[in-house]
Amino acid sequence: MGRNCTICTSPRRHAIDAVLAGGQSLAAVGHKYKVSPDALRRHRAAHLSPAIVAVAIQKYGAESALSAYEGTVTRLESLIDRLEGLLTVAEDRKSLMGGANVAREIRSSLELIARLRGDLDTRPVNTTINVLTTPEFTGVVSCLIEALAPWPQARIAAAQVLDVEEVVP
Ligand SMILES: [Zn+2]
Repeated sequence: MGRNCTICTSPRRHAIDAVLAGGQSLAAVGHKYKVSPDALRRHRAAHLSPAIVAVAIQKYGAESALSAYEGTVTRLESLIDRLEGLLTVAEDRKSLMGGANVAREIRSSLELIARLRGDLDTRPVNTTINVLTTPEFTGVVSCLIEALAPWPQARIAAAQVLDVEEVVP
């Protein structure tokens, strides 16, 4: 991504990328998004996400990549507009359940748009295991606390940093 590239910094970057990936001419894309074909050419050569191109072509074929992507996003955006209208109605009627349902729909539509734009990483999240709560670790801790029995002050200090309940000797 180029910091001086007007396409990269454009809020419509993802849409432009999709259109470029779909194989539209620089002149047509430039006209549609009011950007210069020269900037588009530089951006396409240097910054167009290879992932977007690959997915678009593989999924839809170069020609229809644009309409599939843009059509879906446009419809989702208009759906969100209408849902927001419904949310106002629900609020006016003080309908908590209705409002919550509409809000949930809005959220999932927004998520879908973000996913389509590649903003969300959908890879599974790594599970973090808290070693402090494993039986092995708590076993080590109690051995340590026990071993420190001859030194009560050290024992108290260790229990405090290890966040365990100090056992009175
Ligand atoms: Zn760029």
